[in-house]
Amino acid sequence: MQVPAPFEYERAISVDDALALLDRLGPEARVIAGGHSLLPMMKLRLAAPEHLVDINDLRDLDYIRTNGSEMRIGAMTRHRTLLESDALEVQFPIFRDAEQVIADPPVRNRGTIGGALCQADPSEDLSAVCAACHAKLVIRGLDGERVVDMDEFHKGPYETSVGPAEMLTEIRLEMRPRPGSAYEKVERRAGDWAVAAVGAAVWMDEDRIADCGIGLSALGSNVLRAHRAEEELRGKPATDETIEIAGRAAYEECEPVTDQRGSAEYKRHLAYELTKRAVRRALERVPRG
Ligand SMILES: Cc1cc2nc3c(=O)[nH]c(=O)nc-3n(C[C@H](O)[C@H](O)[C@H](O)COP(=O)(O)OP(=O)(O)OC[C@H]3O[C@@H](n4cnc5c(N)ncnc54)[C@H](O)[C@@H]3O)c2cc1C
Repeated sequence: MQVPAPFEYERAISVDDALALLDRLGPEARVIAGGHSLLPMMKLRLAAPEHLVDINDLRDLDYIRTNGSEMRIGAMTRHRTLLESDALEVQFPIFRDAEQVIADPPVRNRGTIGGALCQADPSEDLSAVCAACHAKLVIRGLDGERVVDMDEFHKGPYETSVGPAEMLTEIRLEMRPRPGSAYEKVERRAGDWAVAAVGAAVWMDEDRIADCGIGLSALGSNVLRAHRAEEELRGKPATDETIEIAGRAAYEECEPVTDQRGSAEYKRHLAYELTKRAVRRALERVPRG
C-alpha cells in the first residue's frame, strides 16, 4: 500500500483566503486542485508537502467565458468541461482533440486545467495545447496579478513561474480572425500519456498563414514549442511544401529521450509526422472566406 507522508489539511473559501493560507503556511504548503497528479506523487513520496490547501470550493474559478476578443478559462475548470464546451470548440477545436485522449472519465471529471499546467509534466497535453494557442496565464499573489505567456510560465519539467504564495487563476486565449487548430497524439493505449504529441494553431490571412503556434508534448523536457517550425509556416502559403518543411524543422528541434514509451529516434519521427498532420488538420478547419 502506498501512503503519503503526514500533512495538515486546509480548505480555502476564496482565492484571497487560499493566498493568505499559502503565505502563512510557507513554502512547504501546496495547493491541491483535482489531486490527480499531486496525490500519486505524495503516495510515491515524490512530494511531501507539510500542508495542503484545498481549492475545490473556489467555484468562481470554474468557467469558460468570452470577454471582448478573449476566451477566458478559470484555473479550476475540469477536463470534462473543456471536452464538452461548444464555445471552445468553435474557436479552439484543439482542446476537444486533446481532451478526448487525456486519461479516462474519472480523471477528466476531477482534474483541472490549472493543475495540469502547474504540474508542468513534459508529457502533459494541455501545456502543448496552450503553447500552440499562444495562451496567456494569469498568476495571482497577495500584491495583485501578473500575466505571462507560456514560454515564461513553463520553466522546465515540473517547474513554473508560479511563486510559493501565488496561484494560477486564469488562462486567456486571444480570438483572432480565421483560426484553425488541431492536436495529434500517439499513445500506447487509450487514455495513456503521450509517446509524443503535437498541437498546431494557425490564423489565416487570405491564403497565407498569418500566424501559428506549434506545441510539443513528450518531445523534450525543455522543448514546449517548435519555434523553428513556426517560423517556417509564418507568412507562408498553406502548401504541402510549406508543411513538409515545418515537419522537418520540428524533427530537428525536438529533443526526445529514449524511455519505456519509445526510442528517441521513433519520437523524432513522430514529431515530424504529427506536426504535418496537426498543421494540415488545423488548416482544414479554418473557416472559408
Ligand atoms: C491515470 C491518469 C492518467 C493521466 N493521463 C493523462 C494524459 O494522458 N495526459 C495528460 O495531460 N494528463 C494526464 N493525467 C494528469 C491529469 O490530467 C491531471 O488531472 C492533471 O495533470 C493535474 O490536474 P489536477 O487538477 O488533478 O492537479 P493537482 O494534482 O491537484 O495539482 C497538480 C500540481 O499543480 C498545483 N496546482 C494545482 N492547481 C493550481 C493552481 N490553480 N495554482 C497553482 N498551483 C496549482 C498543485 O499544487 C500541484 O503541484 C493523468 C492522470 C492520471 C491519474
